[in-house]
Amino acid sequence: MATRLFRENPIDEISETDRTREYATLTRRELELLGEDPEREGLLKTPQRVANSMTFLTEGYSSSAEEVVGKGVFKEEHDNMIMVRDIELYSLCEHHMLPFFGKAHVAYIPNGKIVGLSKIPRIVDVYARRLQVQERLTEQIADGLCRVVHPSGVGVVIEAYHLCMMMRGVQKQNSKTITSALRGAFREDPKTRDEFLRLAHSSGGTPRY
Ligand SMILES: [Zn+2]
Repeated sequence: MATRLFRENPIDEISETDRTREYATLTRRELELLGEDPEREGLLKTPQRVANSMTFLTEGYSSSAEEVVGKGVFKEEHDNMIMVRDIELYSLCEHHMLPFFGKAHVAYIPNGKIVGLSKIPRIVDVYARRLQVQERLTEQIADGLCRVVHPSGVGVVIEAYHLCMMMRGVQKQNSKTITSALRGAFREDPKTRDEFLRLAHSSGGTPRY
């Protein structure tokens, strides 16, 4: 499974187990570079834990919207907007490999087919579990949904806090980054776009964490 999207990548040749093992070795070295003692009790299992956790947090590389949706697309004549709001989102920024997190609001207007509602958060996860910039993540979710359900339109809004801004010198603790991606009717029809953005932004303002 992991080999499909890694096809163009030389890392492809390395099995998942070897990759995790090598990642643990690198993490051990990272601890040394930080001036830590990887042999002290609290850190002994850290390299393996970090390797396992990074494998999980980036498992989206070996998956796709098509794969998580599978057969979860059904014929249906409903043609009003369907929206899943406040989808929890956790990703890693590709510039600092630090988390960014927040909420995604995803809507579409069907064109003869609908997708199981539980599949939409799974599409979000597939693209969030990679190294990302929020802008690209937003576009990829929109395009993934377009590919699996061929709707009349798609709208995605992400509001997120970036730990690379919050924890480092920038110290903008409360600034939230908002991105949107619009396709089809959401781009072309101002009424649809306004309805979507109004629904997306009425989600209670600042998420509570
Ligand atoms: Zn960053």
